[in-house]
Amino acid sequence: MFIGFSLDAQKALIEEVHKRNLMSDTHSTSIEGPKLSILAGVDVIQHPEVLDPREMPDELVQMIKERKIIGSMLVNQITGDAWKRHLKTKETNQKKQAEAAADADGTKTKTLAERRQEDRDLGRAIDMRRRNAEKLVRAGVILTPGTDNYIGTAPEFRRSPTRLNSSVDDRCGPGLVFICHLQKRASGAEDAAV
Ligand SMILES: [Zn+2]
Repeated sequence: MFIGFSLDAQKALIEEVHKRNLMSDTHSTSIEGPKLSILAGVDVIQHPEVLDPREMPDELVQMIKERKIIGSMLVNQITGDAWKRHLKTKETNQKKQAEAAADADGTKTKTLAERRQEDRDLGRAIDMRRRNAEKLVRAGVILTPGTDNYIGTAPEFRRSPTRLNSSVDDRCGPGLVFICHLQKRASGAEDAAV
């Protein structure tokens, strides 16, 4: 969990934003983080469904709904082709895990790293994101598609259907040129002359 600003600091920030007739936005990745921002009076939560890997408590759903806070969700990562791909990968890896379990002698306890790898292989965090998104939809929270997004995570909108964790070059496309240059620079693939 990461909390960047205290409740008082967030209140002061939001007050200044509202004085300028603007909306305030929080970048959410935990349960406690957005709760503080809500108490401070925030207007928008970026990807409220991403509480990896936790389920959103009903109390938090209600706080968002009652205060008419807008949830900006990363829907392209949990619907459409990305979701179909996740289900397919999950099924394949479930079979692999079942086969590996049948071969194992059963005397060894799995390490934390092994269990985390299993979670990743089965996309448990993605499942939880979708479950949280469904919870928010069912509760009637005001929601919008978000733009705080990784490159190419909606395969159906890509010009070439490249996998998610492809190289920087693969991911560079129209409209994302600047971000790609930054990533290339960060990875040392391009000098700082951009
Ligand atoms: Zn984000």
